[in-house]
Amino acid sequence: MLKGVETVILDLDGTLYDKRGLAARMVSHLWWCLPLLAAERSVRRNMHYVQFASEEEFFECFFRQMARGHLFGPKTAERWYHRVYMPTMVRLIGRTCRMRPETMAIIAACKEAGIKMAIYSDYGCVAEKLNVLNVDSQQFDLLISAPQLGALKPAECSARQVLELMNADPKTTLFVGDREDTDGASAKAVGARFYLIR
Ligand SMILES: [Mg+2]
Repeated sequence: MLKGVETVILDLDGTLYDKRGLAARMVSHLWWCLPLLAAERSVRRNMHYVQFASEEEFFECFFRQMARGHLFGPKTAERWYHRVYMPTMVRLIGRTCRMRPETMAIIAACKEAGIKMAIYSDYGCVAEKLNVLNVDSQQFDLLISAPQLGALKPAECSARQVLELMNADPKTTLFVGDREDTDGASAKAVGARFYLIR
C-alpha cells in the first residue's frame, strides 16, 4: 500500500479514531442547545463546495448561515461553537473514543519508512484532539484544518494547498480517510491515491 509513497495525508475524525456513537453522545450532552447543533450540521453539509479567501471569511459566513432563520445571532453561534461545541467534542473524543489499530499501523509504517505525514481535518482543534487521544503531534509534518485553507473537503484548492505545504507530488501522495465523498474526492481532485479506512 505504501509502495512508491513519499507523503501520506491523513484525515482525523473517524480515521485516527473510531467515531461510532460520537454524534449521539454529542446530542445527549448538548440537548439544551439542539437548534445550534442542528444548524451547525446543516450549514457544514451545505458549505462543502464554497471557497473563501481566508479562515476568517469562512467562519464569518459559517456563523451567519447558522443564524439564518433562528432566534440566535451569528455572535452567539460563534461563541457557542468555540466555547461549547468544539470543547465538548474534544472532551468526548478523549473520554469515549478509541484509536483505530489499522491507522496506527499505517502511521508506524510511515515513520519506519521515513514517509512524510500530515493531518488534514475538516474540523479545527486538530492538536487538541491528538492530545486527548494521546497521539504525539510531533510525528506529523503538518497539522491543518480545511477551514484554515478557506474551504471544506473535498475542495480541490484546499487539497492542493496541503500538497504545497508538504512540498508533495500528487503522484507519490496517498490520502487516507474514512469517507469516499470527502477524503477520497480530495485525493481524486488532485490526482493522488486514496486508501479507505472502513
Ligand atoms: Mg473523517
